[in-house]
This record gives sequence, C-alpha cells and structure tokens, in this order.
Amino acid sequence: MMNKRNIGKSLLCGLVAFTMMTGCGNAASQDQNAGTETQTEGISTEESGTEEKTAAENDSNAETETEEQKCSWTDAIDGLSDDFMMGVDLSTVLVEENSGVKFYNFDGEEQDVFKTFADAGVNYARFRVWNDPYDENGNGYGGGNNDLATAITLGKRATEYGMRVFIDFHYSDFWADPNRQYAPKAWADMDLDTKSDALYQYTKESLKTLLDEGVDVGMVQIGNEINYGMCGETKLDNVITLLKSGSKAVREVSEEYGKDIDIAVHYTRIVDKANVLDLVSKLVDSELDFDMIGMSYYSFWDGSMDNMKRVLELIRERYNKKVFLAETSYAYTLEDGDGNSNSFASESDVVDGYPATVEGQASTIHDICAAVNEVGGLGIFYWEGAWIPVGPATADNSPIWEEYGSGWASSYASDYDPDQAGKYYGGSAWDNQAFFDFNGNPMESINVFKYMREGK
Ligand code: CA
Repeated sequence: MMNKRNIGKSLLCGLVAFTMMTGCGNAASQDQNAGTETQTEGISTEESGTEEKTAAENDSNAETETEEQKCSWTDAIDGLSDDFMMGVDLSTVLVEENSGVKFYNFDGEEQDVFKTFADAGVNYARFRVWNDPYDENGNGYGGGNNDLATAITLGKRATEYGMRVFIDFHYSDFWADPNRQYAPKAWADMDLDTKSDALYQYTKESLKTLLDEGVDVGMVQIGNEINYGMCGETKLDNVITLLKSGSKAVREVSEEYGKDIDIAVHYTRIVDKANVLDLVSKLVDSELDFDMIGMSYYSFWDGSMDNMKRVLELIRERYNKKVFLAETSYAYTLEDGDGNSNSFASESDVVDGYPATVEGQASTIHDICAAVNEVGGLGIFYWEGAWIPVGPATADNSPIWEEYGSGWASSYASDYDPDQAGKYYGGSAWDNQAFFDFNGNPMESINVFKYMREGK
C-alpha cells in the first residue's frame, strides 16, 4: 500500500539498480549481488563474516553460470517441490463482484475467478481478516471490507476449487503494516492482559468458525508485517505476549479438529537483514510456538533476489523454521485503470531485466519461485491478483468504492485511520498488478503457475 511504497522508495534508492538474472532450477547466486551484499553488511553486525564468504563464492561462480541460467518464464523449474505453494491473495474478489466487476476465462466466458486461478495452477489462497472494518453506522472502511464473514465466503469458494486457505489475521480493524498497527476499536482501551485474552478468544472462535464452515485452512498468520509492533503494542515483549495468545489459540483448534495448521509470523523490510534475523531470534528465544516465517518481498521495493534468498536461507538454517514469501507481485503495465494512481506507476519502479509487461510480470514470478525453491522455501503468495478497476479511469468511481469497499480505503475509515485513509482514500493502487486486464480478461501471465511445474 501507500506506506510500503514510501518506505520502500526511501530505502531502496540505488539497490534496485543491480541487474538481476535468475533462471531455472538450481540457479546459483549472481555476481550482481556483490554490491547489494556490501550495503547489507553495512547494516549487519553479526553477518559480515558469512557474507564475505558468500560474496566471494558468487564472484567465482558468476561467469560460468550466468549465461546458462537464462530461460523462459514458460519453462518448468527443475527440482520444484511437488507441494510448492503457489498462492494468491484474493481478498478483494467479493467487493469487486459486488461493485459489478466480471471476470472471464480465456474463451471470453464469465467464470468464477477462483476456478480460473485453480486451472492456472494456483493451489493456495490468502485472505486477510480485520476484526471490525466498519464505522458506527455500518459503513465499510474499504480495501475489501475484509471481516470474518468475507473470509468465510471467499474461503469456501477457494476450497471448492481445491485450493488450501491461508488466513491473515491483522488484529486490527483495517490495514496493519510497518506504519500502523492500530488495535481494533473494541480492544483499544484494554490493558495488555485483557487484550491478550481477547486476541486468544477471537483467534480461536474465528478459526473454529472457518473450519466449521468447511474452509480448508492450512496456515494462519498471527499479525501482518509486525516488525514494529502489533495490535497497538510497540514493545517487542508485549507483541510476543500477544503472539503467544494467537499461537495457543491456533494450536488448540488444530488439536480439537485433528487438522494440521501451520502458524506463521509475517515480517517485511527484508532488505534490513539484521533486523529481521534479530526479530526471529527473539521469537525463538521467547519460546513462541510457531512454524514458519513469511516475508514480504516486492522486487521493485525490497532489494535483490539474492538478499531475499539469503534471508530465507538463514532463517531456515539458523532457527529451523519453515520459510516462504507471504507477499510478492509485479506490474504488467504502467497504465492506471481506475483513476486512482498506482503504487507501481513509473519507469523508476521497473526492475532491470523485468519490464512492466505481461512477460515481465510472469518472469518475475517464475524467477522468484525458482529462487525461493532453491533455498528450501515452501512457496510464495502473490498479493492481490484480481484487484481490477470497477470502472474506467475516465469516470468518477468514488461512489462505487464508497458503497462497496472496493477501493483501498473509503472515507468512512477516516476516523479510525486519519493519517492515511483519512487523507488519501480512493480506489485500487494495484490494478496494473492483477492477472486480468482492466476488463476482467485473464492474461497469459496467470499460466506461469502451471508452467513452472510442467512447462508450456
Ligand atoms: Ca489504479
């Protein structure tokens, strides 16, 4: 969202200039990463020795491997694990449909977007859950109005088409990210112990309801991008107290239902490797019961693929936790489809080697999956693959966004989130990063998911 863009741009200036080329199967690191690693070492204190070795290894490997690594996004990835998670966050689908948006298949027939993604090889869907994304008059805050009922409706559809479901509890009434982690309105005045108990009860009841409704939940993340806090708490000890309550709830439901459900903790700012590793280290030291770390990684904001791989690898090896990308994406055009400017909007956002085209979008996903698989990561989740325009860019779409919650925020969110939603509410900043064109027709890039397994 807008926060991410601002943070990313201020931090990554210069880093994205390094050319990235990854390829099929066991692609090794590239010489281009040396510069990035040097910058990372500047932040890191504990990693420098290891990194020097890695950089040296990369230098010696680079010349022989770079050329043969090049391959098409339509090629299968060698050694891709059978259960590699190819996920897409589809949280806005319901409000899109309510807004009149129609999605089609490759034959031009209207078709459930979940079927289209399943047919394209997507095997996991992710949905965010906000406690109460409505004002006192019942008007939705927007961004999908993603309450529990919405997650159930969407989760059942994903399950129907054979996808597993990844539930993303923000523990907020609206967006939670590095710039804001507001507690839900109902919990705002609680002391830590009371809030912790409320979070436990909420997690338990929500998860049980999802399972009772037949949603095939395979993973739950407790909090969203929580590097700097969660649920109104900024002290790490307090955050860990809340995480333990969320974890306990998931474990108890998992046992009660006899269903394996992995618990994920989600961080962003992967460029700050030392910070991320320090956070994971403290979680482990605290004996928080969790299974996996999910990282956000947007190649146009978050540095090189090599740094991303290195962070995943270190978390897996050093802390024995499963790793995956909880969020990633790429633009297929620089055009805006709905009159609300996009997060990925200009040539300066384009990553070298990956133009903002349908092929560039698909190549990005292909190469990121190859990289994640190479270091033992379990998969990726593409963020919002179907958040397309509700009307043409030339129209005033505000009434639709306001009524159905299909913009990133509505004016009704202003009281809850005055600094962001209150100032900038509007439409989709992500319509050029979907797998459908502005009219709901699927693009060839959606098939990258099945091509990565079996080739074209
Ligand atoms: Ca837009």
